[in-house]
Amino acid sequence: MDIKIFEGVKTPFYYYDKELLERTLDAVEACTAGTKMKVHYAIKANSEPEILRIISSRGFGADCVSGNEIKAAIECGFRPENICYAGVGKTDEEILTGIDADIGCFNIESIEEIDILSTLAAKRGKRVTVALRVNPNIDAHTHEYITTGLKENKFGIDLRVIEDAVRKVKESQNLDLGGLHFHIGSQITISEPFKILCERINDLQAKFRFEGTDFRFFNVGGGLGINYDNPDENPIPDFASYFDTILSCLHLEEGQEVHCELGRAIVAQCGSLISKVVLVKKGLEKNFVIIDAGMSDLIRPALYGAHHKIENISAAGKSADKIYDVVGPICESSDVFGKDELLPETKRGDLIALRSAGAYGVAMASRYNMRDLPGHLIK
Ligand SMILES: *Cc1c(COP(=O)(O)O)cnc(C)c1O
Repeated sequence: MDIKIFEGVKTPFYYYDKELLERTLDAVEACTAGTKMKVHYAIKANSEPEILRIISSRGFGADCVSGNEIKAAIECGFRPENICYAGVGKTDEEILTGIDADIGCFNIESIEEIDILSTLAAKRGKRVTVALRVNPNIDAHTHEYITTGLKENKFGIDLRVIEDAVRKVKESQNLDLGGLHFHIGSQITISEPFKILCERINDLQAKFRFEGTDFRFFNVGGGLGINYDNPDENPIPDFASYFDTILSCLHLEEGQEVHCELGRAIVAQCGSLISKVVLVKKGLEKNFVIIDAGMSDLIRPALYGAHHKIENISAAGKSADKIYDVVGPICESSDVFGKDELLPETKRGDLIALRSAGAYGVAMASRYNMRDLPGHLIK
């Protein structure tokens, strides 16, 4: 990382490597061009307008989880017909935002939502395309790498009542059943869960065909993980195996499409949170590097015990032979980025990079402790 470009930029701030983002998008395009796969970028991972514009300019769709995300997606160039909208608790106002914008698909997460959406669509005199989000019950216990397994019933419609849901959608004049939607979790770094998902989809497809229901598309959600330990070894996720797994395992009929909603895999590695060492505190047992970024800027470590690679970029090339705890300034004991980190001798004023922070970084930032929101530099 060339720290000269950071001169004069107020810390903490998110730095996005635009070239890496472009190369990541190139890789996604290379794997999906000419296939039945349509990529929707999951906006909640990072909704910086400049990043949204770079992604929308590739012709990708957008996966939104709120009315404001729908508005941001459209403002930043995503075409409404390429927007899908998921969420367990869409408000009437948010649903109407989607209906009025003529978005491509509502991903319905409960039987109750079917009536609500149908009524609101009727109110606008429109027929809207929906997909039913199925909880495929891929057990998080057998796959601990699925951090947000769907077996918790908040997300999606239980497999056992999916037929009732299909019938209900088909009865509505104002709803058009386009497909089925799934999202089995996040930061999944092996292909097994995606294979199991495809098998579930194939079974469902066969069952519904037998009953006379066809789908135009299946949306497999997001979840492809990245390498947080070694961002420089894997700056671009292995999209080839991911898309290969899905496109080879799914049995698609003529004319059917498959949609995916990648968030983290697209934006995580291009972003780093850059912060400055406020002071190095010598304790009796430990030495603390106290930086000017905290959990209000990057909450993943405090929220899920995540670890972002920590680098002293002012001491690049020097041997990492000192041990420190790297912590933020916020009044919470969980405001810790790393314990017993091996770093070069670190001093006040050094720049520290928290790597792989492009996804769920600034998107989750808050003003806790009345701190300013972090800035950004896209270059
Ligand atoms: C969060 C989310 C995604 C994106 O997940 P990643 O792990 O960032 O790829 C996709 N689809 C839905 C419905 C989501 O809620």
